Amino acid sequence: MTQGLFQRLGAEIEGFKGQGVYKRFNTLTSPQAPWVEMAGRGRVLVLSSNNYLGLSADPAVVAAGQEALKRLGAGTASVRFICGTFDVHRRLEAKLASFLGTQDALTYVSCWNANTGLTPTFLDEQDVIISDELNHASVIDGVRATRSPRKVYRHSDMSHLEEHLTSSKGARHRLVFTDGVFSMEGDLAKLPDIADLARRHDAVVVVDDSHGTGVMGRTGRGTPEHYGMQGQVDVITSTLGKALGGAAGGFTAGPASLCDYLAQRSRPQLFSNALPPTVAASALAALEQLDARPELVRTLRENTLYFRQRMTEAGFAPLAGPTPIVPVILGETALAIRMSKRLLEERVFVTGFGYPVVPQGHARIRCQISAAHTRDDLDFGISAMRKVGAELGILK
Ligand code: PLP
Repeated sequence: MTQGLFQRLGAEIEGFKGQGVYKRFNTLTSPQAPWVEMAGRGRVLVLSSNNYLGLSADPAVVAAGQEALKRLGAGTASVRFICGTFDVHRRLEAKLASFLGTQDALTYVSCWNANTGLTPTFLDEQDVIISDELNHASVIDGVRATRSPRKVYRHSDMSHLEEHLTSSKGARHRLVFTDGVFSMEGDLAKLPDIADLARRHDAVVVVDDSHGTGVMGRTGRGTPEHYGMQGQVDVITSTLGKALGGAAGGFTAGPASLCDYLAQRSRPQLFSNALPPTVAASALAALEQLDARPELVRTLRENTLYFRQRMTEAGFAPLAGPTPIVPVILGETALAIRMSKRLLEERVFVTGFGYPVVPQGHARIRCQISAAHTRDDLDFGISAMRKVGAELGILK
């Protein structure tokens, strides 16, 4: 066997290590929560999880998964249309649709699959797809896999979006794809403007609301609810792997004809197993918890405000926004990784992000707030940040 390829990869990895940009997994030995046990580190505060509502280890969410495991076994051993649909899949889809105010919803094993299995299924050379430059990687890959001409607009630049809409006049369908909450910036899409432009140009709007579902809006119905536009967005894709239980899974919600068409033709539906029933049942329980405990969303919002204020007072300049994603731009990837490493030594787990996850020169640490954090937790995090920030010379 020739070793050339693997030798090259090994050498590149040594290069990553030399440049200080090599990512290491931190192994947890307790459930995802504000405080976790980390192998070799002991108890650490988590400020970098998508467990926005603290539901991933919620007793009702765990019990629902256990009950489904007992009742239905480990999985479907099939794709949906062959023999892989359980009652819990349909119940979850009906609940997601009523939660978001759409006609129907269709689950996938991840939002990655929902995004990459969307537009390639029903757009072709006669259509045009228009995408924000900072959309999630799964949206970008889905757009790239679509046979339509594609146009990318500068992040949240509405005149640029309008230019693309104007220049693509005459296409059979035009589709604008945007994240609801941008995962690396923590800002919101300008949804009212996007919807208005789309209406004037007869385009369809798709929002990936993975960081908005369960998080934004008074009752956690996401970015459209935040803007008072619930039920007015054509299509929503989102994940079950963040606020809604945190296990895995994703979905597309929208018109019944779209969901039905995807069930017929979307490749990850036709060629990949269904969501495990444990995961479907836990996500359903997470949605029920959200209905029963609206204070979770309120606490998340209050925690977010508190953390953003305290970070600013401490001398950091986090990117502005109303979301619980609080990024601090540091520039070089090595600095972001160094800060993250030093914070871990102070028992605070915050991930540093560098190239290729974010553009070169825009490396950052990204803090994420949960409804499960107490004020003491947040204060503990801030004081570690202040100490490490001063050491590394990055405070204002
Ligand atoms: N879309 C966005 C905006 C995300 O942040 C993520 C996850 O990081 C995904 C999609 C993918 O979600 P999943 O983990 O369900 O594949």
